Amino acid sequence: MAKILVTAGPTREHLDAVRFLSNGSTGRMGYALAEAAAAAGHAAVLVSGPTQLPCPPGVERIDVVSAREMHDRALAAFADCDIAIGAAAVADHRPARQERGKPAKEASATTLELVQNPDVIAALASAARAGATRGPRLVVGFALEAFEGLDAASRDAAAERARAKRARKQLDWIVLNRLDALGSATSQLILLGPDGVTVELPEQSKADAARTLIEHCVAALGRPVPAQGASEEES
Ligand code: C5P
Repeated sequence: MAKILVTAGPTREHLDAVRFLSNGSTGRMGYALAEAAAAAGHAAVLVSGPTQLPCPPGVERIDVVSAREMHDRALAAFADCDIAIGAAAVADHRPARQERGKPAKEASATTLELVQNPDVIAALASAARAGATRGPRLVVGFALEAFEGLDAASRDAAAERARAKRARKQLDWIVLNRLDALGSATSQLILLGPDGVTVELPEQSKADAARTLIEHCVAALGRPVPAQGASEEES
C-alpha cells in the first residue's frame, strides 16, 4: 500500500488580518482524491487550503492558509510519502507586504505590489529527484486549461500546453482538466505521462475520476520513468 499526499483547495494570500487574495477552488477534486486513496486502503495526507469540505474518513488533514504554508507543510509531509498529487489551486502571487490588523478603508493603499509564490508541486518534484523521500516516488500535477472549443485542434493545443507545464515542473504525470471543471461536479481528465503517453478518461463524477486516477498513480509508482528533462516534450 502506498502513502499518498494530496494538495487541495485554494490558498489565501492575506493583505491584512481580514482581506485576502484567493480563487474559486472548492477543493472537491483534491478531497475526492484523498478519499479515494483512503478508501482503497492507502494512507492519505491532505494538505488543504481553506474549504467548506469535511475531512474524508481515514484521511490525515493538514490545514494551511497561504501558498508558503502549503509549500512548507507539504514538503515536510512528503518525506515519508510515495506519491504526491497537486490538486490545489495555489495563488500564483501574494501581496509584497501584509498589514497588521485591519487598516481603515481610507488608510489602505489603492495599488498592490505582488510577489511570486513558491510552486508547491515543482518543489515536491524537486525533493523527489533529490531522493528526499523513501523508495520510488511519483509526482503528479494538474493543468487546468481553457479549451477554446471541443474540436480536436483546441484539445491538442491544450494538451501541448499541459505537456510543457509537465516538463517545466519536472512532473512524472500531469492531469489535463478543463477550466470549466473549477467548481463543477464532474471532470473529464486526460493523463499525460512520460514518452508522450496519453490516457483519456471519460467524463465522470469527481469521485469516479479520483478513483481511476489513484489506481493509475499506484500502478505507475515504481515503473521506470525516462530521465526527466530528456524527453521530447521539453521545449
Ligand atoms: O502553473 P499552474 O498553476 O498552471 O500549474 C498547476 C499545477 O501546479 C497544479 O498541480 C497545482 O496544484 C500546482 N501548483 C503548485 N504551486 C503553485 C502553482 C501551481 O503546486 N504555486
